[in-house]
Amino acid sequence: MVKVYHDPITRGWKVTVNSWYAHASSEALRCAAHYEFMMAAIGAGYGKARKPDSDREDYVWFTLVFKQWEQELADMGLRFGKLGACWGNSVYERIVNLNAVKVIGWDGADTRQLSQAEVHARRTAVRFAKFLRDRVPGFEEAHIVRVAPFIGVRETRHIEGRYEISGEDAVSGRIPEDAIALCGYPIDIHDPKDGVAEFTQIANGRFGIPFRSLVPKKIGNLLVSGRGISASDVAFGALRVMGQCLAFGEPCGTATVLAHEAGVEVSELDGRMLRAELERGGVMIV
Ligand SMILES: Cc1cc2nc3c(=O)[nH]c(=O)nc-3n(C[C@H](O)[C@H](O)[C@H](O)COP(=O)(O)OP(=O)(O)OC[C@H]3O[C@@H](n4cnc5c(N)ncnc54)[C@H](O)[C@@H]3O)c2cc1C
Repeated sequence: MVKVYHDPITRGWKVTVNSWYAHASSEALRCAAHYEFMMAAIGAGYGKARKPDSDREDYVWFTLVFKQWEQELADMGLRFGKLGACWGNSVYERIVNLNAVKVIGWDGADTRQLSQAEVHARRTAVRFAKFLRDRVPGFEEAHIVRVAPFIGVRETRHIEGRYEISGEDAVSGRIPEDAIALCGYPIDIHDPKDGVAEFTQIANGRFGIPFRSLVPKKIGNLLVSGRGISASDVAFGALRVMGQCLAFGEPCGTATVLAHEAGVEVSELDGRMLRAELERGGVMIV
């Protein structure tokens, strides 16, 4: 991972480039150089970076820091946290993806509020594009080519499960006997009041997801996978990410087969037995 910083004081913002293919700053710049308006904006100049012997596009991560326009952006409804940083990436020539519009204070489980938030978010994206064109060097000719098809909601409902994973379970890196997957992502909570993301590291870098947290308390033959499992807001801050949610699928499938073979409901299955079966299949739960 390589970072190329531009002086954040004189220009008020900087670009960080993390290129998977670059090994030195100069190489990172070269790889990044075909994202013309980005590079023009940091005064680095630009050229063609596609390798002569490959038709592969390079993939670049970067961070724009808008500290000097903080108030103006806040008035538009845009918040970039303590650092004033907006991160993005670029896969295609002359197109950058910006992770910019975050709306807070709406209830994603209420369909009316969800629609209102969607309208608000799209309007804010249009305002932000205008801001970029008007204020940020290199974006003068930029326009929106795509926004997300629908608004993404970080958290709404969880089941009431046989076990609710607590914040303490997560922070202490607890791995219960009936763990069926591990979560290795830190607790990443976006404050519902100001949208600022706070990270808390997990002891030993991982905690276990108990089978019981996938089993609803009051329904017999049902398992819940993905982000709806039984967890506190704090634990959810870690386990909600995609890698973890993917990891809950295999235990659900395996549990269904084991329960069927044993002639019991999935909720009656012993989680320790399920764990042993998963480990026999190569799943690492240590
Ligand atoms: C703004 C935002 C940014 C995020 N950033 C990251 C990130 O950088 N990295 C990361 O790892 N995670 C990130 N996450 C979290 C992550 O994307 C989700 O928590 C995760 O994808 C949840 O997985 P899931 O399988 O539980 O649900 P989903 O991924 O939401 O999958 C549920 C699927 O079910 C479908 N569906 C819904 N209802 C029905 C129905 N009735 N019939 C058929 N299909 C239906 C939906 O269309 C959807 O495809 C982010 C989330 C948000 C909102």
